[in-house]
Amino acid sequence: MSAGPSKFVQVVIASPVRQHFDYLPAEGLNAMDYRVGTRVEVPFGRRNMIGIVIGHSQDSSIPADKLKAIRQQLDTVAIVNEDLLALAEWMSSYYHHPFGDTLLSLLPNQLRKGGSINAYTQCCWKISHHGLGLPDNALSRAPKQAALLSFLRTAELATANTLTTETALKHAGHSRASALELAKKDLVTASEQAYYPSDCQSLLTGQAQDQPPTLNNEQIAAGTLISDRLDSFDTVLLEGITGSGKTEVYLRAIEKVLANDQQVLVLVPEIGLTPQTINRFVNRFDVPIAIFHSGLTDRERLAAWTAAKDGVAGIIIGTRSAVFTPMANAGLIIIDEEHDGSYKQQDSLRYSARDIAIIRARTKNIPVVLGSATPSLETLFNVQTKKYLHATLKERAGSASPPSIEILDIRCKELHEGLSDNAIAAISETLSNGQQAMVFVNRRGFAPLLMCHDCGWHAQCDHCDARLTLHNRPRELRCHHCDHRTHVPSSCVRCQSTRLLNVGQGTQRSADALSALFPQFPVIRIDRDTTQGKQAMGEQVDLINRGEPAILVGTQMLAKGHHFPALNLVIVLDIDQGLYNPDFRGPEKTVQLLTQVAGRAGRTGHAGKVLIQTHLPEHPLLQIWQTESYQGIVEAMLNERSLRSLPPYAHIALIRADSHKPEHAMQFLNSLAMQQTNRVNQNGCQLIGPLAAVMEKRAGRHRAQLMIKSEHRKSLHGEVKQLIHWLDQSKKPSGLRWSIDIDPQDVI
Ligand code: ADP
Ligand code: ZN
Ligand code: ZN
Repeated sequence: MSAGPSKFVQVVIASPVRQHFDYLPAEGLNAMDYRVGTRVEVPFGRRNMIGIVIGHSQDSSIPADKLKAIRQQLDTVAIVNEDLLALAEWMSSYYHHPFGDTLLSLLPNQLRKGGSINAYTQCCWKISHHGLGLPDNALSRAPKQAALLSFLRTAELATANTLTTETALKHAGHSRASALELAKKDLVTASEQAYYPSDCQSLLTGQAQDQPPTLNNEQIAAGTLISDRLDSFDTVLLEGITGSGKTEVYLRAIEKVLANDQQVLVLVPEIGLTPQTINRFVNRFDVPIAIFHSGLTDRERLAAWTAAKDGVAGIIIGTRSAVFTPMANAGLIIIDEEHDGSYKQQDSLRYSARDIAIIRARTKNIPVVLGSATPSLETLFNVQTKKYLHATLKERAGSASPPSIEILDIRCKELHEGLSDNAIAAISETLSNGQQAMVFVNRRGFAPLLMCHDCGWHAQCDHCDARLTLHNRPRELRCHHCDHRTHVPSSCVRCQSTRLLNVGQGTQRSADALSALFPQFPVIRIDRDTTQGKQAMGEQVDLINRGEPAILVGTQMLAKGHHFPALNLVIVLDIDQGLYNPDFRGPEKTVQLLTQVAGRAGRTGHAGKVLIQTHLPEHPLLQIWQTESYQGIVEAMLNERSLRSLPPYAHIALIRADSHKPEHAMQFLNSLAMQQTNRVNQNGCQLIGPLAAVMEKRAGRHRAQLMIKSEHRKSLHGEVKQLIHWLDQSKKPSGLRWSIDIDPQDVI
């Protein structure tokens, strides 16, 4: 290595290339003028791209005359701190994702696109030296300017170097025109300054007004477990049945952390970030609260991001990607509903926000709390092996008691639009008692299948191995996998018969049927179709929270996190599909969903009731769950995982490939497997497959996958690295795409 000053700037960009690129400094600048963590605009191929400086070097593997110069420096101070750099490094190596792409994915969109770090700026005014020294009567012919100058002088004399915002200036009765005149005479200076507007959607001001309830003994014990560990890393599972007061325990821990002038990051599932949730925080704490959710503009997200980074926000609440938010002074991380599938990103950089939260807490040496009524098997396993601490809340908070559960055998029973007589009678009774009933249907749309009664033809997506779902309003057939939409034929495509049947129940159909059965009561439907708008979900929830008798119909969106005080009856229309789910996580997901749905019933006062309709009443999962609840079934599920050597007893990675041409993906993974199996086996790993995906064709692409499994994480990662090297190097059929998924959620 040659000695001397660094000549080259190392830059990463969002690209599939797994390395950095060397650039020359722009003319007149030195390499070291580009600080690590700042953004630069660099020429790349025929385009310009935004990159981040990650280091400097004296040598480059590319001859200096082939290197290009940086076009533009976008920041003078680092926007990516060491924390984020280290996190990106960890993620890049754990998820085997290119470092540059990883690092840029951690940033808000506006920064990724090269925008200013300041989301909002406004003009600020300051009196100049010259202005300060101006004799009092110098502006006697311009009284407005004189008044403004005197106003700014008073401000400056009160606090040196003070800036007066244009808003404040106008507030005091001065005009921008006078300020501009003064600026022309060099008596004042103007500058753009960052600020947070008071109506910013992503930064709310907390106003404590709620009277906290007196904690019960279990809550006190759980709270103590957490608050005893506020100054070091630990992972605490807070396992508490729905309505047991977990959120109240979080709020008490947050109170302690805020009192230490530290920040708290709270992660919630995708659909859990309703105004109702946010209000619990806003009404409890007098601190600025930064919010991240999908309804924000890029600018609003950036404002929340900088407020967290600069320590302005005391509490940061957000969904999955909020886990990357930099914090000036983090004290605690909370992950609500830690088992929720939405914490795992399912495309591109396939990370788990829960796992990353734990990594961040460890790096920052602060505690992390995982809360759930139905913790994931991985988390429970970590409790069993003493990696995590465990606090439990077994009682419902306040006066609520757990619901009674009844499995309704619907074999041979007459069904009215999917509902048994017992279910209808129960709804009727609930409504006449002035309470609410909820019908859980796991399909949105009208009917999951359009079928010909004469020849058995059914409507199928042209692009996927999937049936089309019939929707009413607007009436069309839709594919729920690729969003392909098409008109509803009036006769069978194969035999021209007009006897087309709508088979099965979707939320629309159930809602229609319930409206017809109970015309005097409102039917509130909640699914992805009815909650599209920014405010829609919150409005629906508000309507439910009014507590008037009503029927709620919805998909699993209804099952999560909400506290509906007047809801007393829950009906699960059909659980059988879940029980047949072939994925290894199928049983876990189904039981979690059942438990969550059931947990909605009877949350205040009256004992609630849950009716589960099924054709499989003897299914062991249902049997154990009914008598022993979630905790009872966990042992059985863990046993099964252990016997089959599946997570958490083994670790898996999945390589997926897809291609337009049938067979290409399969052949490609086959050649990978053929060449690598021996070495992989020798290193204590196992290759399983390649297999065609259960839905072999999706959105016009044919899909195959190869699983790598090992009991040792280290060997798994070693082998994945080798496989990726092969994948990067090998010649691929045109149009073939592949991806790697570490700790996949679904493997079918
Ligand atoms: P979870 O997060 O476990 O679902 P919450 O914290 O939302 O439970 O509590 C459920 C309901 O019970 C809320 O309305 C909450 O205000 C109330 N609650 C929580 N703890 C107590 C308590 N100790 N005494 C009375 N009410 C409580
Ligand atoms: Zn037909
Ligand atoms: Zn499709």
